[in-house]
Amino acid sequence: LQPLYFTKEYMENTKTCVIILNQEKKIENVNPAFHDLLGYTSEEIIGKNMDLLSDRKRDVFYRKMWETVENVGLWEGEIWNRRKNGELFLEKRTIIKNNEQYIFLLEEVKSRSDKNKKEKRDREDHVTNLPSRSLFQDKFKEVLINATALKKKPAIVMINIDRFQEIDKTFGFTIGDPLLKEVTIRMMHHCDAEVITTRMVGGMFIMLLPDVKKETVISDLLENILEDFRKKPFFISKQEVFISLSMGISLFPADGEDEKELLRNADFARYRAMEIGENNFQFYTPNLNVQMFERLVLETQLRKAVEKNEFVLYFQPQIECKSDMIVGAEALIRWKHPEMGIVPPVQFISLAEETGLINSIGIWVIEEVCRHLNKWDEMGLPNLVIGLNLSSKQLQNPLFVGQIKEIVTRFHIDPSRIDLEITESMLMFEIDKAIEMLKELKRFGFRISIDDFGTGYSSLSYLAKLPIDTLKIDRSFIQNAEKNKENMTIVSIVMAMAHELNLEVIAEGVETEEQYSFLQRIACDYYQGYYYKPPVPTLEFETIFLKKN
Ligand code: C2E
Ligand code: CA
Ligand code: CA
Repeated sequence: LQPLYFTKEYMENTKTCVIILNQEKKIENVNPAFHDLLGYTSEEIIGKNMDLLSDRKRDVFYRKMWETVENVGLWEGEIWNRRKNGELFLEKRTIIKNNEQYIFLLEEVKSRSDKNKKEKRDREDHVTNLPSRSLFQDKFKEVLINATALKKKPAIVMINIDRFQEIDKTFGFTIGDPLLKEVTIRMMHHCDAEVITTRMVGGMFIMLLPDVKKETVISDLLENILEDFRKKPFFISKQEVFISLSMGISLFPADGEDEKELLRNADFARYRAMEIGENNFQFYTPNLNVQMFERLVLETQLRKAVEKNEFVLYFQPQIECKSDMIVGAEALIRWKHPEMGIVPPVQFISLAEETGLINSIGIWVIEEVCRHLNKWDEMGLPNLVIGLNLSSKQLQNPLFVGQIKEIVTRFHIDPSRIDLEITESMLMFEIDKAIEMLKELKRFGFRISIDDFGTGYSSLSYLAKLPIDTLKIDRSFIQNAEKNKENMTIVSIVMAMAHELNLEVIAEGVETEEQYSFLQRIACDYYQGYYYKPPVPTLEFETIFLKKN
């Protein structure tokens, strides 16, 4: 989350102990709560390695903790720690990796063994003072049993505080709990006494409206709540924050005849509301089920596809215009789905990105490209260069550079035979960090090219700053070039400029003889496209290559 939240003011006032480490895991800064909890002074601790503070630095547990921080960016758990005076205590620890820093949030876990309190907790959610889950369940059952006989129309609303997990993980319960309390108060303010609400886990609530005469009664109520949240901010560690809600509604008996079905369908609807955008609500409709189900099925299958090795690479030949020889190929992934057949990347790459599966798929692609290069070297195909598409998620993964270096080293591949294709839009966020990463890849020897060039928003001046070798002109410019004078001019100018900057140019999506001869005229370096060949499987690529070269 934003370092913004770790303002000086927050650090000074929070009861949560905050420790900030630099990249080398040396302590850079601590807050007053740190001194109270652990008993060290700043002098004793600033500049020291965090490991010195731990009894458990050799444990598997401790190693795993750091591994998770590195891989996921976040670790949360309970851990025994020792104060300066030697006293052991249980702490709730959250570690966040934030750019170049690690942020530790520590809170002591106090024993909670008060019997009276426990009983109360069984009937009441101790955080929000709402009825407990089991009380709610009893009431829900009762309402449903009587609904038909009494001609009542109960409805369920599933409510989730958007991004609550993030807030809770970052600040811990000292911030999360008061926030939940305030959200509850502000929601309930709009409900009449009949409405029963409980909290499930985290920032998720269920509301039961025992008798809804018209749908508009619900939509008016929820609209009022949303309006309230839209207009009035909450305060998190003295900062104004707007909190939003996603809500889903199911109605008895149309959307479900028992508790389970009503809850499930309200949750489907809530999920849909969340997808549409924050701060809104959705009524359940049967086709939601189908959409969610399809997505879920695809996600499950995609997960398995990685293990079951259901991916293949196709290769599209890249031709040098001058010599008319195949000098390389772009590797393009396909999913050999057991029922759907060959699935193109547009149908699964974004899902893979959302689910994080892109990292393991990306690694498979790199390894597969290396395997092919070795095979083709053995077959006597001369030094081909293979283009490999990267996803922005891979560039955001701090482990990526290390991983790709390790793979090419393991396969004994000269990295200059791999051309990493990135798009301009991948550079839009955290451009400095991305440039650093590209420079490191470049120093190691990889080739780097800008894919879909011309479709991004970037200024031309940044091109000179990037460590790139090639521009791949997007097919939209190529495909209209022979008819559209403007596009023709653009392509010619890009060509001249690229050559001025010592960059090579690949024209993509060349489909016709006219496009091809236009490119020849303006001295384009390479082209690929259906005019020569579409992407083809390995064997076919080998046959094509041997025939042509
Ligand atoms: P891209 O990198 O722009 O790839 C070029 C796309 O244009 C390919 O679609 C290719 O089949 C298609 N194409 C090639 N020649 C022509 C032509 O003459 N005319 C037309 N109309 N199209 C042509 P494909 O294979 O469906 O890939 C789509 C996109 O999926 C790629 O766009 C790339 O962004 C992504 N992708 C493919 N493989 C991978 C991968 O291994 N990893 C990642 N992260 N993304 C991939
Ligand atoms: Ca590409
Ligand atoms: Ca492209």
